[in-house]
Amino acid sequence: MSKQNQILVTRSSMPTFEEYCEEIRDLWDTHFLTNMGAKHKQLEKDLLNYLKTSNITLFTNGHLALECIIAVFDFPKGGEVITTPFTFASTTHAIVRNDLKPVFCDINSEDFTIDASKIESLITEKTCAIVPVHVYGNLCNVEEVEKIAKKYNLKVIYDAAHTFGVEKNGIGVSNFGDASMFSFHATKVFNTIEGGAVTYNDSTLKKKLNDLKNFGITGPESVEYVGGNAKMNEFQAAMGICNLRHVDEEILKRKAVVERYRERLENIEGIKLSIIQEGVKSNYAYFPAVFDNYKYMRDEIFEKLGAANIVARKYFYPLINDFECYRDKYSSNQTPVAKYIADRVLCLPLYADLELEVVDRICDIILK
Ligand SMILES: *Cc1c(COP(=O)(O)O)cnc(C)c1O
Repeated sequence: MSKQNQILVTRSSMPTFEEYCEEIRDLWDTHFLTNMGAKHKQLEKDLLNYLKTSNITLFTNGHLALECIIAVFDFPKGGEVITTPFTFASTTHAIVRNDLKPVFCDINSEDFTIDASKIESLITEKTCAIVPVHVYGNLCNVEEVEKIAKKYNLKVIYDAAHTFGVEKNGIGVSNFGDASMFSFHATKVFNTIEGGAVTYNDSTLKKKLNDLKNFGITGPESVEYVGGNAKMNEFQAAMGICNLRHVDEEILKRKAVVERYRERLENIEGIKLSIIQEGVKSNYAYFPAVFDNYKYMRDEIFEKLGAANIVARKYFYPLINDFECYRDKYSSNQTPVAKYIADRVLCLPLYADLELEVVDRICDIILK
């Protein structure tokens, strides 16, 4: 089979060519291509509204957004940050690149987010923050995390890269904790090609975040911080403005795909699906299946699908505490539940335009 017939784990959402061209037309009038121009301002406004939040700052990608929101709090060098290893490399790297020390907490096997009952025993006098991850679009136990953070006076910064548009009882996910990072990478539910944002409660952070993403330049003749360059450009923002118009429709199409997967794979012995969280409006970002004592091992299913030109992903495997760059200091044995899941989980193809016939074909291969 040719590459064209390959079913990948995801496929980027795009507006029509005409819609995008129309959106970028003004840029040829103004020649204003970056540095927080009109498209950037418009997208910030649109997203504040969509995410039901009060403060947002855009970035050129989610990773630098996370680095900057951690930096803005000015934690003492060497401070400890409680996080999980069951996530994308970015979460831990952002902590380490801020000269902070990740402390890995285990996850729970129901929704794959941080096991809040294990956080307190990891807190020391050096702990300054908790950076939990809303994995696959599932919300962390935000109430419990909040309680612990209050008790020990810790900041909470959520990696919300997977939870664009997710709400709990009508409250936008960006309202939990002190801040949240969203990724608008091409592979995410909502994309700006590459891009990201942080949302936060304290509106006084806005100025410093804007300065940090622009070399720490604070005025025409002053540079107060050692900042980097993490600005979203106008073409990215224009893509976001277009994609945001269609995101609800895209999420509905994803929902249909997820429902078909559930119909076919639910109640099969040895296949465990993620729980459906009560009161949570999902964005259907990922479809993980855990093969636990199933007739085939996870890696066998991965191979079988691959042979049929269907690319699933071992997401998240390996665990971050087993990465070459971290394994001399950490081990996945310290997070046994995360290790168990990482060895058995497979994310199946999921995107808005995935045909239900293809979903059936994937399920047939798994069940055969
Ligand atoms: C995608 C992702 C990121 C990084 O976002 P980028 O926009 O790709 O830089 C961080 N954390 C998680 C969990 C992600 O999935």
